[in-house]
Amino acid sequence: MKPARIVIVGGGFAGVECARRLERKLRPEEAEIHLVGPSDGQLYLPLLPQVASGVLTSVAVVVSLRRVLHRTEIVPGLAVGADPKRNHIVVRQPSGTHCGLEYDQLVLTPGSITRIIDVPGLPQHGFGMKTLAEAAYLRDHVLRQLDLAAVSDDPAEQRERLTFVTVGAGYAGTETTAMLARLTKAAAREYYPRVDPAAVKWYLVTHSGRIMPELGDRLAARAKQMLARRDIDLVAGASAAEVTERSVTLTTGQVIPTRTVLWTAGVTASPLADHLGATTIKGRIVTDADLTVPGLEDVWACGDAAAVPNLTAPGEFCAPTAQHASRQGRHAADNIVATLRGNPRAPYRHKDLGMVVDLGGFDALARPLGVGLRGAPAQFVTRGYHLMALRTFAARARTGFNWLLHSLAGDDFIRIGLADDAPHTIGDFEDTGDYLTPEQVTAILDECHPG
Ligand SMILES: Cc1cc2nc3c(=O)[nH]c(=O)nc-3n(C[C@H](O)[C@H](O)[C@H](O)COP(=O)(O)OP(=O)(O)OC[C@H]3O[C@@H](n4cnc5c(N)ncnc54)[C@H](O)[C@@H]3O)c2cc1C
Repeated sequence: MKPARIVIVGGGFAGVECARRLERKLRPEEAEIHLVGPSDGQLYLPLLPQVASGVLTSVAVVVSLRRVLHRTEIVPGLAVGADPKRNHIVVRQPSGTHCGLEYDQLVLTPGSITRIIDVPGLPQHGFGMKTLAEAAYLRDHVLRQLDLAAVSDDPAEQRERLTFVTVGAGYAGTETTAMLARLTKAAAREYYPRVDPAAVKWYLVTHSGRIMPELGDRLAARAKQMLARRDIDLVAGASAAEVTERSVTLTTGQVIPTRTVLWTAGVTASPLADHLGATTIKGRIVTDADLTVPGLEDVWACGDAAAVPNLTAPGEFCAPTAQHASRQGRHAADNIVATLRGNPRAPYRHKDLGMVVDLGGFDALARPLGVGLRGAPAQFVTRGYHLMALRTFAARARTGFNWLLHSLAGDDFIRIGLADDAPHTIGDFEDTGDYLTPEQVTAILDECHPG
């Protein structure tokens, strides 16, 4: 019999775990596996704030797909449309050309992008924190503000450049703010005699008034104390109402002069989710409990892009976390194997195992299996967890070595030269547009596979 052709869209937590499990469970004569993605590395997103703050180098947080996957064919490009009736997706290759890719089983794991709401000026002036390029750009931008403040004689300009505002206090926003506040204060203290460290000001704006609600009340209160010690102002009950090049106006009416607005107020599923003809909730593809997509034959979805029923909290969907994405990827693989072998499929069920938060230095919080930890024990658990979760020895070694080097030698506060006039909006960095309509998909597939 011809091997089944399994196509996975997206090489993130869910996609990579799915491919690894399929490689392990299916013999080459049973299935060929293809993974479509824009890069041949898996970005380990939870460590992105450490790239922005210079604790880790960019390559340390990317796991080579070719090291992890041994017989999966990596198809470079973006899946920009699909025709489930013809069992084909359309891939836009890095060269810009489109090609059709046939599948017997399709696994959709394209993850999420930054959710931009209708705030004037945000798309033009807000910074995101979802890609490696965004993290690297943010670090350069923040250090450039110190450089420019140090040579300016205009107090208003100095104030704008030394004030930084993050909107959104989930783990991405809180960790990034805590680490960058530490970085900018240290840089001002050590390398910029003309900049008063006390003039460097960070604001963390949260709509709900809570930070990292997944931590529970006691640890979240600890996190607030840690932020206060870093001189970070928590602005509760507000969001951004307007962003300009030189200020942000909050929904409370408060105007904060700043050249840096980091937007981490939520994510939304990859736009691909809306281009498949599947039912979506808040942009996420609705799945059944076994991770199949109702109404589309041989199509599965998991990770941030999927709204998977949470069987441990009836009526809710699983949260968009790496923990769920990895487990759902493996679960989808198990169910695909069951399907190919004519066995019954199992529903996905996973109770959250807790979370880990690194605020830089020895400030860390962890809640493994419901046990609250802080300080050095939490740091140990946090770093141990990340090292375990990185899939290759090379990635673990790079990350571990970076941590050691940074703790011994500190930071040199070096920019890599990403200039303000280079494209740097959230839309420039994330794959937000240019997906195909069903008619365009049909035209491309007709051209690729006439008849
Ligand atoms: C800064 C930050 C910190 C975080 N910290 C934590 C944490 O501490 N703990 C936690 O559990 N979670 C954390 N998360 C969330 C976690 O990273 C996500 O839930 C997880 O990455 C989701 O996995 P995924 O496989 O669905 O998507 P991703 O890991 O985002 O992977 C999706 C992949 O699909 C690719 N892709 C996108 N569109 C297409 C397309 N059209 N065609 C082909 N490929 C495509 C992308 O390039 C990417 O490689 C954090 C997220 C961020 C941004």
